[in-house]
Amino acid sequence: MTSNRIYLDYAATTPVDPDVVAAMLPFFSSTWGNSSSIHAAGRASKAALEQSRLTIAEGVGADPLEIIFTNGGTEADNHALKGLAFAVRKKTGRFHILVSAIEHHAVLKSAEVLREHGFSVGLIPVDAAGRIRVEELERLLTPETGVVAVMHANNEIGTIQPIAEIVRCVHDHQAFLHMDAVQTLGKIPLDLHALGVDTAALSAHKIYGPKGIGALYIRKGVEVDALIHGGAQERNRRGGTENVPLIVGFAAAVRKSNALREHTHVAAKALGKRLRAKLAERWKFVFFNGDGAELLPHIVSISFDGKAVSFDGESMLMNLDLRGIAASSGSACSSGSLKISHVIKAIGRDEATARATLRFSFGRGTTLEEIDALVAALESMIDVHEK
Ligand code: PLP
Repeated sequence: MTSNRIYLDYAATTPVDPDVVAAMLPFFSSTWGNSSSIHAAGRASKAALEQSRLTIAEGVGADPLEIIFTNGGTEADNHALKGLAFAVRKKTGRFHILVSAIEHHAVLKSAEVLREHGFSVGLIPVDAAGRIRVEELERLLTPETGVVAVMHANNEIGTIQPIAEIVRCVHDHQAFLHMDAVQTLGKIPLDLHALGVDTAALSAHKIYGPKGIGALYIRKGVEVDALIHGGAQERNRRGGTENVPLIVGFAAAVRKSNALREHTHVAAKALGKRLRAKLAERWKFVFFNGDGAELLPHIVSISFDGKAVSFDGESMLMNLDLRGIAASSGSACSSGSLKISHVIKAIGRDEATARATLRFSFGRGTTLEEIDALVAALESMIDVHEK
């Protein structure tokens, strides 16, 4: 970071890249037409809109016609789950939905709403590393299952799922798979056609793009009901005037994060390795969440053994913040409340251990010195709290 504060919460959000800001600026000032208007001002905005759609589609292995813009990952998850569930039930009568136990709340809460609309909802458990077992999924699928949601990688612990295998299993049962790719976009290669998923959620603000813009991928031929009704924008799939400046910024962010992907991956791996080694060397009672699975390199989630220590993640976060370090106790949405994370619970941690969980996530600006400063800060705090 530029100030002397240390930001280790890039999985919650990222700053907007200066190149992204520069790409957006003309669309707030000189090119401001409504992209649905047929006059020259509208056509200029429309051209930028469609160029951005193409850039994003190419960046995720999709066709431009398969991308519709939403106001972020949450809307894309809501749209996919509800839109697929309603469309599939209308067509086939299938009313059963399966979602993984570690999905983002955007998916879990959407599933709860669907339950109120007469759907039956099941949870797919994960193993101690946060992985879905395909045999377990196979066992849970019924002839009534229409939609399954499994995220590409988890935002709290970073576990990457065997999506291609999961897709095969779901398609063998003539059901549809929604994948939340909010945390993997720009971090690991993302080829939606190759993975074969039916829908996918994307968001710009995790990849140095602006907040409030994202996209829903809908594989060609898959029917998804609209959620937002109004104008005929996004080919009748999402009403509302498109936010061209943010969409242009989203495209610039996708282009740049894909270009830097390999470099940031290697750098994040080195940072994660250093942090893990230092923590393991200093404390015997630290668990590394997701250990044993394939993980996103920029996320390190740790839980302190509740049998050895008596503090919670929230007070640790506040203490870190006082020392100038920003981290997270889980997902950004659950920090601030003392509820234990559903993800940490799903991987089998006991309550006291789950409460003592911290997530550190690195970005383009993170340095090895910042990792050392973090460990030093933890040392000064934990000596005070240690039983
Ligand atoms: N899905 C995952 C996995 C996320 O990490 C987030 C952001 O925290 C979202 C969905 C929601 O995305 P947005 O903030 O763009 O609504």
